[in-house]
Amino acid sequence: MKITSAEFIVSNSDADKCPKEPLPEYAFIGRSNVGKSSLINMLTDRKSLAKTSGKPGKTQLINHFKINQNWFLVDLPGYGYAKVSKKTKETFQKFITDYFEKRAQLVCAFVLIDIRLEAQKIDLEFINYLGEIEVPFCIIFTKADKISRGKIDGHVAAYRKALLANNWEEMPQYFVTSSLEATGRDQLLEFIDGINDE
Ligand code: GDP
Repeated sequence: MKITSAEFIVSNSDADKCPKEPLPEYAFIGRSNVGKSSLINMLTDRKSLAKTSGKPGKTQLINHFKINQNWFLVDLPGYGYAKVSKKTKETFQKFITDYFEKRAQLVCAFVLIDIRLEAQKIDLEFINYLGEIEVPFCIIFTKADKISRGKIDGHVAAYRKALLANNWEEMPQYFVTSSLEATGRDQLLEFIDGINDE
């Protein structure tokens, strides 16, 4: 998929106020600082469509971007940042769970995981939550340039093991990405294209 247009549409903290236009929608979510803004900018080939910032936990809104006039990319707030007050941080805010539970045109959630780290409790909790509410999802491993190529498979295997220990029967579809090197861009865009064409 070639990105011909990428425009910001709206930000809000109310799932009911998301755009009414019935376009297929793909949501990006993960712990603060996982590299979500960088990934969105890399995917859309726009320098600052999503704000990359030195202040994790700042973007606390649901952001809709319309891509190629035919799908929405949704940038959701990062979760689990220690400096956000305990109440805000409290597992997953209601407007986020509302979004996942109500949004009819949501096609797939992309859960971003820093490839360097051991499986984190909060990510597993979130993945388990998506399973409970039956929202299709994929995993996007981020920052792959930060480990040597030879170690990537081992990190993915360790994550698979953590999921199996959480009663998942198999590893979901996953992508290994680096925003710095644009790794995984074509695969991700092809995946989205494939679903949109169905
Ligand atoms: P967000 O809070 O999830 O939106 O994360 P950001 O996109 O703002 O990135 C957090 C930090 O990780 C920033 O310092 C980025 O430069 C860095 N970062 C993000 N993606 C990559 C990547 O693919 N490779 C490397 N080396 N650093 C990255």
